[in-house]
Parts: sequence; structure tokens; C-alpha cells
Amino acid sequence: MADLPVDDRADFEAADRGFVAALDPATVTADGRAVWDTESYSFLQQECPDTAHPSLWRQGQLCVKQGLYAVTDGIYQIRGLDLSNMTLIEGERGVIVVDPLLSVECAAAGLKLYRDHRGDRPVTAVIYTHSHADHFGGVRGVTGGGVPILAPAGFMHHAVSENVYAGTAMNRRATYMYGPALPRSPEGQIGCGLGMTTSTGTISLIPPTKDITRTGQEETLDGVRIVFQITPGTEAPAEMNFLIPDRRALCMAENATHTQHNILTLRGAQVRDARVWARYLTEAIALFADHADVVFASHHWPTWGRENIVRFVSRQRDMYAYLHDQTLRMLNKGMTGVEIAEAMRLPPALEQAWHTHGYYGSVSHNVKAIYQRYLGWFDGNPAHLWEHPPVEQARRYVECMGGREGVLAFARRYLDDGDLRFAAALLNHAVFADEHDDQARSMLAEVYTRLGHGSENGTWRNFYLVGALELTGGVVPADIDTSSPELMAALTVEQIFDSLAIRVDGPRAWEESLAIDWHLTDLNQYHRTTLSNGALIHQADPPPRQPADLTLALTKQQLLGLLTGRPADGIEHEGDMNVLARLIAVLEDPDPAFAIVTP
Ligand SMILES: [Zn+2]
Repeated sequence: MADLPVDDRADFEAADRGFVAALDPATVTADGRAVWDTESYSFLQQECPDTAHPSLWRQGQLCVKQGLYAVTDGIYQIRGLDLSNMTLIEGERGVIVVDPLLSVECAAAGLKLYRDHRGDRPVTAVIYTHSHADHFGGVRGVTGGGVPILAPAGFMHHAVSENVYAGTAMNRRATYMYGPALPRSPEGQIGCGLGMTTSTGTISLIPPTKDITRTGQEETLDGVRIVFQITPGTEAPAEMNFLIPDRRALCMAENATHTQHNILTLRGAQVRDARVWARYLTEAIALFADHADVVFASHHWPTWGRENIVRFVSRQRDMYAYLHDQTLRMLNKGMTGVEIAEAMRLPPALEQAWHTHGYYGSVSHNVKAIYQRYLGWFDGNPAHLWEHPPVEQARRYVECMGGREGVLAFARRYLDDGDLRFAAALLNHAVFADEHDDQARSMLAEVYTRLGHGSENGTWRNFYLVGALELTGGVVPADIDTSSPELMAALTVEQIFDSLAIRVDGPRAWEESLAIDWHLTDLNQYHRTTLSNGALIHQADPPPRQPADLTLALTKQQLLGLLTGRPADGIEHEGDMNVLARLIAVLEDPDPAFAIVTP
């Protein structure tokens, strides 16, 4: 903590400011199962132990605060009752809900807490600031629909598409990132930097009724004037900030929070654009700073006072711009992502601000992400062009180091010298060369545990600790699942066929050839899928040619059912139904519990 601004307690004052009431007890249940539980984090009130980085422990103490808070006149926030915040803006007839959390149950509990203290106001409108599920999934906990719902243009597409194609792998990796299987304890999960963790209730989605398409667009909801700034390609592909001029309050969505955010989330996603992120923050300052006395976001606590607002948003801006520009400067000198990540240091003035610290994103993995965005996985060195995969690589390294005894001896030496990173690399080879080597596994688990306990970054800590857990206890099945019937129903027909295509087991389908026409009766759409050379090709409005082997007439709901293995009852057909069976026969289910720290 020597180089950290430990005397700066402003964040604690801001996190407590405006406190109205806490949820008591601080648990939310669904069918008797806890989907949210703040009580389990009460140990964070103690002094930081040796098993945690003091800076991350401090962030946990701030994020664990929960309840209803006043932001300014007529604006309240529910904080600490899910990963994200829900903001409540009081209008003439009721209340506008901004970002109704991830789970229906948490959103309902939050709204009830608000109403207990502010009266039984009806929800008159909803705003989704962006397309991530922790900002819309709880919507049915606050409304059944029938009210205006505003979202940035492209919201629906991105809300469903980001998790469609690689969703299984993202969910699996998310269990490493958020650590739901870890004990909540000083040795275990102490938050994820952005909040404590994700809730595990019901995810819903009501489509927006109005798109925000341009910066400067002004809308009046329940008598409240709101001016929007769209920020596509920042923290989410569809995102927006907004000002409530008559309350002098600015919402920065998830574009400026009290952490360095992810340019690339460790669960996996497409790389975000640090350059435009910084530009939109500059624009937000220019448009809104003179008209705001408070800035709040959909995570963490607000910042009050014009000077503080400008300093806060400018530093966030400088941080993303610096990371972007310096990465590009260094890569144009021939440095690779790994090298730049090692060399990059934020300016001291930025490091002195807590909110630039990497509790969720990190300088290290963000720099590699920026490199990846511009240059991809290959660093240009032919030695890295055609490497052996991990098991083959591991066997050879182990052989070269005199067998497993040699590797373990070397690993012990590096471990004793405190070079945990190289000890992890060596032991990882030992485990991949022989996954049944229990001694190597337990040594590697020990190294991961120490790396986790030393991490300032919450998601790094969770990754290391879940790795240790799975090395000793085997794969822990995922209990993070961002799919839901409403998200599935929001898929376009093209996305449904794309999802089908990525489940075709290529080699098994090499010799297969078939064509199916699909008439979506409820949408009055015509689609054709053809399977040839192991590729399932989709075409909307197919030109008439030779007839398909099978024509099916069905609803979109029935199509979704077919994909999830429900029988084809009630589907009208013409042609040979055996063709559908042949297609289904070459589909493979994804593996939601694939190994990560073992081969
Ligand atoms: Zn979020």
C-alpha cells in the first residue's frame, strides 16, 4: 500500500453519502434459494489479511455497501444488491428506472426498498444504458411492459448477439472470472472489482420501445427532460450517457466507473476500442460538465461537484487514451503485447487516483487487448507461428528438464525465489504432460493461490483461485447462465440458423448433403438451409431452384424448440422427415464444463 493514496478517504464518504436505508437482511431469494447475499461478505469489515491485496480489499469494502441512496433531488440509487446499480429518477406521476439489474428478483427487491421509503410510485418508464445483461435482465422485476423503454440504437441486436455464438465458452470462463464456486472468505472470493459478483436469479428482457439514435437527442419521460449522448463501441457496442439538465445530474452508464475497466473482458469477447472510448469521454465533458453537479454510473458510487466531476472523467479519459496511444507507440517500435504489458506504467498522477487502478480491467491485459485489436494473436516471430499445442509442448519441456522430478525441482526453486509466474509456467507443463500427477497439481494450486492472494485485480484473483480449486477438486459445473427464454426468443431467425451451423460436427457431416426449406408461418418468412461439405449454409428468401428435400412450416417458437431438442410435434411438412433427422444426427452439444487448468 506504500505507493497508494491511503489517506484519501473521499471514496468512502461518497459511497456513504445520501444513505437512506439498507435491505435487511441483505439477501434476495427465489424459490427458497439465495440469488443474492451480501451478508456472506461481512468479513470484509475486518482489517485486510495477508490473503488479499489491500487495494482490492478496500474496493470490496466499498462495493459491499448496499441499500437505497439519494444521489440528488429526486434521484436515488439501489447499490450493492446485484453486480450493477439501479437508478430511480422521480417524475411527475411515478418513477423512471435506469438499468434494472441482472435478475428479476434483485430488481423487485430493490424497487420495494425504494418504495418503502419514497412511496408507492408506479414505474413510468425504463432506460437501458447499454446492452449488457446486468443492465436489463431484471426488467420484469420492475414492470410488465406497457411503458416507454429507451435504449441506444442497436441495443436488441447486441443484447442477444454478444453471447450467442461463443456463449458456452464465455459462461464457462465467467465462472473463473466471478468465482461463484469459491467460498466467500478472506481466502476466497472478495468481489470482482466492479461489484461483488453476479446475482443468480431470473434474466428477462423487454424490447425497447424507442431507440436513441443521436447525440443531443432530447426526450421527456414522465415530465423529466433527458439529453442523450450515444457512445457506441465503448464499454459496450451499444451504450449511451445522458444528462438530466433540470436536476443537474449526469449518468455515465458504464463509461466512467471507479475502476480501470476492461478493454477485453477475461471471460472472452471482442476487443473494445480504447480510442473511441476516450473520445466519447472528452465529448461528455464538453457537452455536460457545465450542466452537472453530480455524476453517477451504473456501477459504484457517484461523484459530486463540478471540479471533481471534470477531474474524475478526465482522468478516466486520459487513462484509456494513454493505454491506447502508448501501446501503439510501442508496437510500432516492434514490441509485442507481452513486452508492452510489462513496460507500460500509468503516469504517477493517474496512479494516485484510486479509480484508475485495475480492479476489473488491468493495465496488463488491456495492453495485450489493444495489441490484439490492431495486430491479432501473432506477434510476427516465426517461432510462434506453428507451436505445438499445450500437451505436446508440455511433454517435450518435461523431457528436456529431466522428467517430472526435474520440473518439480526447478519449480520449487523458482517458487522459493518468489518467481511465482515462472513456477506456474513450469508446473503447468508438468500437469499438462501428466494430468494425474497429483503432486504437480497441488504445487500448481499452491502457486495459483499465492498469485490470487497477491492480485490487486478482482478478476485475476478469481481466475487464479478457481484454477487452484479445480486443480485439487476437479471441474466445478457452471452456475452462471446468461441464456433465458426471453433472450432466446429475441434471436433473429438468421442468428438461430447460425447457432445451428456452429453445432455441426464437421467431420461427421463431410459426406452428408441435404436441403431444407423453412417457412416461418408466424413471421411469414422463407429460409433455406443446405448442408454440404460439413457446412450448414443459411439463406433467407431463397431463389426458386430445384425443390428442397424437405419443407417445414413452423413458428419461430417451434424452430427454437427443435434446436433445443424438443420433438417436431405439430410441425407441418412436405417431403422426407428423415432429412431433418439426418441434420439433427450431425449436431453436437457444446460442453459447458470443459477443462481449463488441465488438458
Ligand atoms: Zn455492468
